Amino acid sequence: MSGGVSGVVLRGRVVTPDQVLDDGVVVTDGARITWVGPAAQAPDGVALPEPAPQPRTYLPGLVDLHCHGGGGAGFPDSPDVATAHVAATEHLRHGTTSLVASLVTADLATLLARTATLAELADTGELAGIHLEGPFLAPARCGAQDPAFMTDGRPDAVRQVAEAARGWLATMTVAPDVPGVLGPDGVAATLGSAGALPSFGHTDATEAVMAGALAQARAQLRAAPAARSGRPTVTHLFNGMAPWHHRAPGPVPAALAAAARGDAVVELVADGVHLAPGTIRAVFALVGAANVALVTDAMAATGMPDGRYVLGPADVVVRGGVARLATAPGEPFEAGAIAGGTAHLLDVLRTTVTAGVDLRDAVTAATATPAAVLGRSDIGALAPGLRADVLEVDGDMRPLRVMRAGEWLYQ
Ligand SMILES: [Zn+2]
Repeated sequence: MSGGVSGVVLRGRVVTPDQVLDDGVVVTDGARITWVGPAAQAPDGVALPEPAPQPRTYLPGLVDLHCHGGGGAGFPDSPDVATAHVAATEHLRHGTTSLVASLVTADLATLLARTATLAELADTGELAGIHLEGPFLAPARCGAQDPAFMTDGRPDAVRQVAEAARGWLATMTVAPDVPGVLGPDGVAATLGSAGALPSFGHTDATEAVMAGALAQARAQLRAAPAARSGRPTVTHLFNGMAPWHHRAPGPVPAALAAAARGDAVVELVADGVHLAPGTIRAVFALVGAANVALVTDAMAATGMPDGRYVLGPADVVVRGGVARLATAPGEPFEAGAIAGGTAHLLDVLRTTVTAGVDLRDAVTAATATPAAVLGRSDIGALAPGLRADVLEVDGDMRPLRVMRAGEWLYQ
């Protein structure tokens, strides 16, 4: 630290990978974090600010692997960069400094066009990657997605999408029970060769098929030189798949077993709508935070009032913050399938902590674990050498300021 410290010195409660420091300090220099530790041990030359009168907590910038939009704009409905920018900004304002933009099932031409648009936003650093949810999904578990566009697996289509994504294709949700997805030349293997990950979901697979798919994908990713990381993921565990019945177990126990071994990462939409608090708590207890990625599955209505929205080709009604497919006249609101979330990742983090998950574990699942999925070792924690992505929150875990790469963006 000789020569003095330029940059920013933050003091408050600090959540590091190893502990929660009640009186901690984060020091940044330019775009990087240079020091993190207890205030009492701050290096010479660091000008310590007085502790803030109001409690404030510093978290790593959040990393969301599954997000369809916000601020009134949806990635599946973004004809141009400006529209997608609105959605990305809505989440950045609330602390998501690394955002993967998700598309929904559509025809191939639409997917290629949207992917190319999102790749432009990734080139500028506004997006951390692109996720395609479909189209190789099980129509029986389509959720809010349009089964008319769901097809058997087409590795050639994966190659076209990867080309349009120019290196930014991070994950694709695929159903292992759909023909053409598994096998040495299937969609899952093609994703791995293209530097993307298969994320199993929207599936009617049995326990055996899901277990086999996860094992095969794990082996293929380990052998693929271009793989961004070695573990397949599971798209919003529990949602879009059969529940765990003890005589017909379905995909859930296979996903949990693989995650518990460290062979897969399970997404949880822990927003208070998609999963009960006890489910969230149990999954963390069973598989550990290193194998859970908290995600929003957020759609355009995030940060917006109740009303009517679209999610790709689908009409969606949002009531009380819950998004559901619009129903026919006379049918109740509740008859529509849940059509994504309306929470920011910081809201999901808060809901997870309220459910009884340890703060440090919840933060890991919203930062370090999804960063590892992306193959990014430069983000996802408050630690020296990492990019200075810092989220300052108040005592109720509401966002106060957001720093990305050392710059305050919103305060
Ligand atoms: Zn989704």
